[in-house]
Amino acid sequence: FDDIAHPVCVGLDCAGNGATIPAASGWPDEVFAHDGQITKRPVRALTLSALAPHPGEQLWDIGGGSGSIAIEWLACHPSLSATSIEADPDRAARIRANADALGADRLRVVQGCAPDALADLAPPDTVFIGGGLSQALLTDLWARLTPGVRIVANAVTLESEALLTTWQADHGGDLLRLELSHAQPLGGKRGWRAAYPIVQWSVTR
Ligand code: SAH
Repeated sequence: FDDIAHPVCVGLDCAGNGATIPAASGWPDEVFAHDGQITKRPVRALTLSALAPHPGEQLWDIGGGSGSIAIEWLACHPSLSATSIEADPDRAARIRANADALGADRLRVVQGCAPDALADLAPPDTVFIGGGLSQALLTDLWARLTPGVRIVANAVTLESEALLTTWQADHGGDLLRLELSHAQPLGGKRGWRAAYPIVQWSVTR
């Protein structure tokens, strides 16, 4: 397989930690430097599946956090492009560092607040909302995006969930609720530790 380029593996090997990256979406969380604000591996895999990258497409990753969604998007195919929009300067710098360490040097990072920071960006084919979900953001996107653009939004709070269920009633699309639990030690035995449920809305503008 030596002649099949997998830039992410090359980047990791250069970093000298000897780890290899899976060829499927949903990389281990430890691959990314993060401060806790990261879409965890199983949810990330389902999110990449909903984003459904097609060759040549451009992603807006709104609320980039660690950049994990955009970085894995770029790894799906060399013709893909992506821009991460992140309000927090430290996280924006971390996204850049993660992208460079993982061979995703073609990721563009914009430090700024959506929707204002979207104004000058090249139009996307697909938009992921992982942070900054609000009525103002959805209204802005709906006006700005051309018909055919896919939008995937993940909500954790009751408030953002209410927003998504209202928008789905008005505009259609698919609502998916992710309820995941991990087994972990409980006293001397084991129990299920539930993660916050996530509501995911996928819609085509
Ligand atoms: N998907 C990310 C995690 C997102 S956490 C990952 O896998 O790493 C949500 C992020 O949204 C936070 O980093 C927060 O700073 C950012 N954010 C919140 N509101 C925002 C806004 N209006 N514009 C841009 N970023 C925003």
